[in-house]
Amino acid sequence: SQSPSSPHHPSHRRQTVTANVGGVLIGSGHPVVVQSMTNTDTADAEATAIQVAQLARAGSELVRVTVNTPQAAAAVPEIVARLREVGLEVPLVGDFHYNGHLLLREFPETARLLAKYRINPGNVGAGQHHDANFATMIGVANEFGKPVRIGVNWGSLDQSVLARLMDENALRSTPRSGTDVMIDAMVVSALESARYAEELGLAHDKILISVKVSSAPELWQVYRQLAAECDYPLHLGLTEAGMGMKGIVASSVALAPLLTEGIGDTIRVSLTPEPGAPRKLEVEVAQQILQSLGLRQFLPQVTSCPGCGRTTSQFFQELAQKIQDYIRDTMPDWKARYPGVEDMQVAVMGCIVNGPGESKHANIGISLPGTGEDPRAPVYQDGKLLTTLKGPRIAEDFQELMERYVEQ
Ligand code: SF4
Repeated sequence: SQSPSSPHHPSHRRQTVTANVGGVLIGSGHPVVVQSMTNTDTADAEATAIQVAQLARAGSELVRVTVNTPQAAAAVPEIVARLREVGLEVPLVGDFHYNGHLLLREFPETARLLAKYRINPGNVGAGQHHDANFATMIGVANEFGKPVRIGVNWGSLDQSVLARLMDENALRSTPRSGTDVMIDAMVVSALESARYAEELGLAHDKILISVKVSSAPELWQVYRQLAAECDYPLHLGLTEAGMGMKGIVASSVALAPLLTEGIGDTIRVSLTPEPGAPRKLEVEVAQQILQSLGLRQFLPQVTSCPGCGRTTSQFFQELAQKIQDYIRDTMPDWKARYPGVEDMQVAVMGCIVNGPGESKHANIGISLPGTGEDPRAPVYQDGKLLTTLKGPRIAEDFQELMERYVEQ
């Protein structure tokens, strides 16, 4: 494992300024922020408020909503009011494309209530309209003191920047590859837009940047380039990651190397929802990525073995599941409840081969009896044997020991 003094340890964040998004601080001086986005029609204020609340309660520290029509823009005050009624103050980010300059001007209360505006420089308009529309949105941001994310996406890249860079590339003696030029174009589009926003009076620390692509190697290339060329906080995510396990694996693989290099100040995992899957899954995946990298801890980390022929399996799997569920359901606020508590590891192991060793490494751990073993489950706490559990209530007894450990 990497020691904290290693340049590869995730605690070595790329240095950025800090942006304040509705009270959530984003930048290298602060933990990497988890965010997500609704998929309801924003004009349906009730459905959107319900989904924002679900995402926020799952741990999304910012929630983005699309603001694509006058009806959607008009619904934002009601969404905010509904959230406040239930005591939720999660900052809302407005996602603007094509008509953001019109909506932000026409709906000043919405502009005032949103904590940040996402602007896509690839679709604010073409030619002179591009600059005028962009300037209108930055003007509103200045008026209300809001930060802005310049969000470039390769599916909607500013074609004029791409054409300019392709022309320049054609004149080179050794032309760069098409992918390299496209990546350059995305970085240039983002940084030129950021510079223009600053020329229009937006403060340097009110700008965040994202440049999203849908393949991991290209994401690494584009973010490393971007990270080297600016100190704006970066919003990191693999766009169109896909569905279910494919999307989870693709996002994890794409984000992990960059986060390990200290690149990325807020993340979103963009999963295509499977029918019936909870929307909050993308929040849980984002949290787990950060937790697996040792960047943040949202819940006690459970280490459990896969089980094998040595364990009387069903019981072991059920116990591992019960403990995982118990931690998820009862301990999400454990750090707030017990402010002095450091990060916590819990081991749930299937037999004595690796069980006691893993348990000793964890804060608290249990080794269940494997096939043919004495039907007793030794529990280790802080590296020492605490007790040996037996009987039908092993899971409940172990849960009580965990609670007692945290309280102590
Ligand atoms: Fe199998 Fe025991 Fe290893 Fe778990 S700890 S995988 S049950 S040998």
